[in-house]
Amino acid sequence: MKIAVFGTGMVGPSVAGALVKLGHDVVVGTRDPQATLTRTGAGPTGGIPFAQWHAEHSDVSLATFAEAAAGSELIVNATNGDGSLAALRAAGAANLAGKVIMDLANPLDFSQGFPPSLNPVNTDSLGEQIQRAFPGARVVKTLNTMNARLMVDPGSVAGGDHSVFVSGDDAEAKTVVAGLLADLGHRDIIDLGGISTARGTEMLLPIWLRLMGAFGNADFNFKIAR
Ligand code: NAP
Repeated sequence: MKIAVFGTGMVGPSVAGALVKLGHDVVVGTRDPQATLTRTGAGPTGGIPFAQWHAEHSDVSLATFAEAAAGSELIVNATNGDGSLAALRAAGAANLAGKVIMDLANPLDFSQGFPPSLNPVNTDSLGEQIQRAFPGARVVKTLNTMNARLMVDPGSVAGGDHSVFVSGDDAEAKTVVAGLLADLGHRDIIDLGGISTARGTEMLLPIWLRLMGAFGNADFNFKIAR
């Protein structure tokens, strides 16, 4: 499949690399490709500079959000929650129409420091905001409840015995996303229902962040025992 992965932080390259290994044709989207390639420091959430990752992944091209979306069948949104709507607007509604947007972002609000709060929260979610802003696209919220490495290597914790959620209004889009999740190694894929259920998974972030604080690392995930 032709896939555009929006995001050059920790998550974007991790997911892009894994999708290439699965045989997909992947392009990474960014605001300004030249600026992204000349960036020397790690991103705000850590990781290596994008250019260093890109040097080892010459099979992944880098393009603007609009160029990346135009040639793709599916878009992975791995941009900062605060910038996700701007990134998708830059991609252009016409380039998103009819396509699956696999939304991995969290609406973390660091304006009052750490730990962040959520905005929107409770009566709305980033997943819903994206779906409302781009009614022609088919948004599926998923993978936002685990760290970047576990997204693509679930077997690295508890032999992969843990859960991933999907939320979205379009049943066929959720089937496509569930297929990709299974290919990445996820076994317990829980369909929560429509996109408004993204409120629930985005609101797992406050407990996820406290668990990271308690454990001192991000190598854990939620398992829904039933
Ligand atoms: P991040 O620093 O949160 O996001 C980096 C990306 O956001 C870059 O591609 C950047 O664009 C884009 N961006 C930032 N502000 C923007 C704006 N105003 N307009 C357009 N684009 C903007 O990196 P991350 O840690 O990889 O996280 C990505 C998303 O995944 C976040 O929403 C995060 O909450 C979620 N998430 C992260 C993890 C994790 O393990 N880190 C786990 C679960 C979910 P440029 O490329 O142009 O710089």
